[in-house]
Amino acid sequence: MRKKIIAANWKMNLTIGEAEAFLDTFLLEIGEESGADIVIAPAFTALSKVAERLSKSSTIKLAAQNMSFEKSGAFTGEVSAAMLRDLYVRYVILGHSERRTLFGETDEIVNKKVRAAHEASLKPILCVGETLAERDADRVEEVLETQLRGSLAGMNSKEIAETVIAYEPVWAIGTGRVASPEQAQAAHAFIRKTIALIADPSVAEKIRIQYGGSVKPDNAKTLMSQPDIDGALVGGASLDPRAFTEIVKAAASCE
Ligand code: PEP
Repeated sequence: MRKKIIAANWKMNLTIGEAEAFLDTFLLEIGEESGADIVIAPAFTALSKVAERLSKSSTIKLAAQNMSFEKSGAFTGEVSAAMLRDLYVRYVILGHSERRTLFGETDEIVNKKVRAAHEASLKPILCVGETLAERDADRVEEVLETQLRGSLAGMNSKEIAETVIAYEPVWAIGTGRVASPEQAQAAHAFIRKTIALIADPSVAEKIRIQYGGSVKPDNAKTLMSQPDIDGALVGGASLDPRAFTEIVKAAASCE
């Protein structure tokens, strides 16, 4: 039985003060809920304050939204895995479609980052997903397989099992256009089948695969009730502490 994992991707939103206001409400609303793993990914600037506020929580973990694959040195503007570890970060979102399309991240770059994360004992949340043009051209499986093979190259079974995969169809991110539970389930089942080939069937059985793309309180439970959907990566709705609480509770209530 895989425990559901819900992650908030705040993107370039919430200053330190706004992050604190979010937590004031969220920590009250969420209480002792532990039926799902909860991960929050603030902007780099708010990591330290959010880490401080979460230090007493055993159920909510901290994530970064990106990191460098380099260990240290002359890389102006970059942040290393060790720097994230300093702030008690446990997860790092890698290969998000915004990083791929706006900042030119290829599978090769994403692979270097995923490997650097594991080396530093950070758990990657690896995002994969097709564009609308790729879906319309019937290329979903080809795209997912290429991204998975490229991004997970050279990793051992233990590392792959500890990676969280986020299936995020690009056409559903921030658009309000959500994949149907059947479309999402089909993609997740394909991802699991591909992981069995890249690693082995026991890794495929263990690995958690989140759905991401316009997840809201009213669609979360139906999506996460699908057999291969193990949680959600939430953008827009994660900025509202009450909406995010409802999504976590929906996850915790799934059989
Ligand atoms: C995301 O950016 O990872 C995402 C899923 O965003 P949204 O929930 O806003 O579609």
